[in-house]
Amino acid sequence: MQLYSTNDRSNIVNLKQAVLKSLAEDKGLYMPTSIPQLPQAFLDNLQSFSFEEIAFQVSKNLFGSTIPNWGLWQICETAINFPAPVVKVTESISSLELWHGPSLAFKDFGARYMAHLMSYFTRNEDQKLTILVATSGDTGGAVAAGFLDAPGIEVVILYPSGRVSPLQEQQLTTLGGNISACEIQGSFDDCQSMVKTAFLDSQLNAKYHLSSANSINIARLIPQSFYYFEAMKQLDQSQQNVFCVPSGNFGNLTAGLLAQRMGLPISQFIAATNLNRVVPDYLQSGTYQPKASIPTISNAMDVGSPSNFVRIQELFDKSHSKMSQAIKGYAYDDAATTGELLSLYQDTGYLADPHGAVGFLAAKEYLQSHSRSTHVTVLETAHPAKFLDTVQECIGEQIAVPDRLSVLSSRQKVATPLSNEYSEFKTYMLQRD
Ligand SMILES: *Cc1c(COP(=O)(O)O)cnc(C)c1O
Repeated sequence: MQLYSTNDRSNIVNLKQAVLKSLAEDKGLYMPTSIPQLPQAFLDNLQSFSFEEIAFQVSKNLFGSTIPNWGLWQICETAINFPAPVVKVTESISSLELWHGPSLAFKDFGARYMAHLMSYFTRNEDQKLTILVATSGDTGGAVAAGFLDAPGIEVVILYPSGRVSPLQEQQLTTLGGNISACEIQGSFDDCQSMVKTAFLDSQLNAKYHLSSANSINIARLIPQSFYYFEAMKQLDQSQQNVFCVPSGNFGNLTAGLLAQRMGLPISQFIAATNLNRVVPDYLQSGTYQPKASIPTISNAMDVGSPSNFVRIQELFDKSHSKMSQAIKGYAYDDAATTGELLSLYQDTGYLADPHGAVGFLAAKEYLQSHSRSTHVTVLETAHPAKFLDTVQECIGEQIAVPDRLSVLSSRQKVATPLSNEYSEFKTYMLQRD
């Protein structure tokens, strides 16, 4: 498999380089030079494959002979070890529940797959790998859980102080071991830009073998395409299947587009956002205008400058008209989101998290203007208990917290407080042992 940088098509690397570097030196994001179609026999018979087998087939299709079958099977089998069930919510809307992993969010798929892929690639090397990751919410928890105790790998997580939920904060700050957390006085965009600067810093690169676990890493993106196949396997394939993706950095939606390019018959995508609506606005107007992020209750989507937008542009040859045909954008404020969370629960008994609720809003609005044979599957990106206060206040009921979350509250928080000045973060990194 070969990948190019979105800033320079002649800058070609192999999978190992792309996974370990994460970001190209020209600041571009890596994209596969070709996205082969999967064999029709596979696409027509998804039902006969387990989720791990789907992961293997899709990986193999992209990687070619880059990783031997035994290695690839081990990665898929270890990383993709929890289900992604499709739950029917109404006649025309289903929920693809992506929260059955250790941190209760879809990012577990990407984090676990990337951790095992990186371990595979560095298994014969001496120098430790240091993963830098900026999180607006769930990334950190998923990465921490995915990489905890991974041999030869340490993780440094940057998160915006006060802008992640208490439970998310516990997920990032209580594991210890090879996982460290920095609490940044600033926004997620500040955290992300500090990480991007660090990768280009020669002093830090001399001290560390740096790598990233953000959604910019291609190793996060690829496994996120698996569950679109896994979902289709559970859906009625004779209907028009649309996927609705609650989006922030647009990794999940980009992964869906990859699945579609590999031959999965997805008829359209819906990009659902909160008030951070740069992409829906672009799809409407043709003008792309990144902004400072706005805090909302669906905080994992509080992104004013979505990093994967350049990848989506690549997939559509930078054509606004192609992109706006394939993807419909919708954006909602917090009042609409809590309104939907409550009414969905009252009408159907289905309890969504705030990110999923944004998706259900978009799915319903979309269906108002689309045919009755259309079925929308909303990606339910996190378990509602991850946003406990918001969800309980909204429905006026206590909800049960899964054990894998509730144990965290008894653990000690360990985080290093830092300003949003890059120099302060750099000093911290240089002084670490
Ligand atoms: C990260 C996250 C999102 C946004 O996903 P992107 O791939 O960045 O668009 C949505 N919902 C939840 C719960 C998340 O953690």
